[in-house]
Amino acid sequence: MPLLVMKFGGTSVADPARIRAAAEKVRAEVARGHDVIVIVSAMAGRTNELVGWVNETSPLYDAREYDAVVSSGENVTAGLMALTLQEMDVPARSWQGWQVPIRTSSAHGAARIEEIPRAALDAKFAEGFRVAVIAGFQGLSPENRITTLGRGGSDTTAVAFAAAFGAIRCDIYTDVDGIYTTDPRITAKARKLARISFEEMLELASLGAKVLQTRSVELAMRYKVPLRVLSSFEDTDDTSGTLVCDEEAIMESNVVSGVAHSREEAKLTLVTVEDRPGIAAAIFGPLAEAGVNVDMIVQNISEAAPVDGGAPRAVTDMTFSCPTDQVARAERALAAARARGDIGYETLEIDTEVAKVSVVGIGMRSHAGVASRMFAALAEHGVNIKVIATSEIKISVLIDRKYMELAVQALHDAFALDKAG
Ligand code: ADP
Ligand code: ASP
Ligand code: MG
Repeated sequence: MPLLVMKFGGTSVADPARIRAAAEKVRAEVARGHDVIVIVSAMAGRTNELVGWVNETSPLYDAREYDAVVSSGENVTAGLMALTLQEMDVPARSWQGWQVPIRTSSAHGAARIEEIPRAALDAKFAEGFRVAVIAGFQGLSPENRITTLGRGGSDTTAVAFAAAFGAIRCDIYTDVDGIYTTDPRITAKARKLARISFEEMLELASLGAKVLQTRSVELAMRYKVPLRVLSSFEDTDDTSGTLVCDEEAIMESNVVSGVAHSREEAKLTLVTVEDRPGIAAAIFGPLAEAGVNVDMIVQNISEAAPVDGGAPRAVTDMTFSCPTDQVARAERALAAARARGDIGYETLEIDTEVAKVSVVGIGMRSHAGVASRMFAALAEHGVNIKVIATSEIKISVLIDRKYMELAVQALHDAFALDKAG
């Protein structure tokens, strides 16, 4: 039988009534002749609550125990979903990650799926079970410890199962009815896209559009899994939602296809760093070891600073950004490197009130002028740019967080994203 993967996010399984509504959608697909692998997230808000408890208990927590705690939300919804389906006379069974087992790396809190053996589920489908319910977001490390896949990781569980079982499609049911030109919660002018390319979605996701976890898009692209985002609250059919697909299958041709934002960013500047070969490695090596995800990096032009009684030496300022919840780790890692004498700087300036706003589009490869249009639009609205980063198909800026919504709206207007190209 053709197999479909259906993933339900937190708001789609927020309580038993919502789980029933989701199960109805599963039942409808079974009635249409599909076998179904259902992936569930934890109930809305539950993972945040669990993360909060871990932080309250142990601010510098052991990542293995973090995973033991935060993976638990999905166990509840997986069992409830299987029970709900059984109540509807749909033969269903649930699996936690370790039971499959979903083999992952041992990078706790951000593990990567390495293998999904098919035997356990294949055997159940052969017995006549029509639905396998899988707890998303979790797996098993080589050391047999429970791992989690990073926030939003159930999307990745879903795509990985779709790839492993040759599913005809991976449907991601969520609280919006598709992928929009920007987060529809920020501007009512956001327009739903019928299709978006894997590459653009990959950029949007990695730049903060949390509608899909970045890794899920990467996997879908690599294993050619047709990936769709659609609403769990509305009636849906084969044409609903947004399809993430190859570039060739896209008809629209806007130069910029979306605007992404990331709210919880921080900017750190090492002031008056000695500029010598190896200084960047001496700064960013310890940060990487401390698990800090450094994003944008800017090094100022080097200047000669006079030194009392000696020859002038070259100094510079080094600025980088990282998520706000990693600032404490970054501070500690830098202070330790300084204490060891590996790096020298006068002060560390920290700004935790910044956000990143980005425009993304494959059309940028062949069109000039996107950057100037972006900067002009921000200038017109009085938004000051603190850091800029570009790649082939995106431009990102770091700005004061209080202007984030304004900037997203201004850029959406400047690139006329409310109109199809
Ligand atoms: P789930 O719990 O179902 O996984 P998420 O909260 O992770 O849902 O992702 C859905 C949310 O992503 C939406 O509610 C929306 O606010 C946000 N979002 C951000 N950017 C976009 C976008 N470009 N298109 C659609 N939704 C977006
Ligand atoms: N429950 C996890 C989270 O909130 C995984 C997910 O929802 O995809 O991050
Ligand atoms: Mg999500």
